[in-house]
Amino acid sequence: MMRMKDFAVIGLGRFGSSVARTLASQGHGVLGIDSDECKIACMANVLAHVVQADATDEETLRALGVRNMDAVVVAIGHDIQASILVTVVLKELGVKQVIAKASSDIHGKVLLKVGADRVVFPEREMGARIAHSLVASNILDFIELSPEHSIVELNATRSMIGKTLRQLELRAKFGVNVLALKHGKSVNVSPRADDSIKEGDVLVIIGETEALRRLERLAE
Ligand code: ATP
Repeated sequence: MMRMKDFAVIGLGRFGSSVARTLASQGHGVLGIDSDECKIACMANVLAHVVQADATDEETLRALGVRNMDAVVVAIGHDIQASILVTVVLKELGVKQVIAKASSDIHGKVLLKVGADRVVFPEREMGARIAHSLVASNILDFIELSPEHSIVELNATRSMIGKTLRQLELRAKFGVNVLALKHGKSVNVSPRADDSIKEGDVLVIIGETEALRRLERLAE
């Protein structure tokens, strides 16, 4: 069974509350912190613990025991100074994993400099995913792993149907790997070379973004 983890989410705006809600719905312990009374009232029934506090205050964070959390998400967007300050304090308190939301490139850079273990740009990342799925009709989803590597979900094209993965030669031609084959509700997570593509299949492919782009264009 999956080990239930403990998280803190600081800032319960649209992004923070969505992260917190999802973690809680999966049974994890979530402490929500926000300085806004309304946000706290909204989430009181959803999360195991909510605290109305200014998270830039080191003593408050220490007293709440954030140090022992598996990860802490800093979901403060507009108040850049507060987001940076909270990130510094969390790392100083010894939090193992701090994930911070950035509202601009420079904000992201500073967050990494002060010790954030991971920086996310939710609007930008979601925007890129939506754009990919709009431009190429065969692309269902797109996840950027790094500037160079991505995962795409591709609808099997007519020319793929009936062929095995070996015959498609995606690895030889594009240097990409098929992670999974989806057919309706069933998902084959360890596809073999002899598995053949059926109509309606979705291929989950990992590789260099550039190679995936070439593949997307061919699949159009
Ligand atoms: P979203 O897009 O997720 O709605 P946002 O980028 O607009 O968020 P803000 O609204 O600036 O971000 O901040 C998100 C939440 O963080 C707000 O509910 C705000 O009350 C809370 N917040 C901001 N500063 C602090 C702080 N110092 N301590 C605790 N909570 C804070």
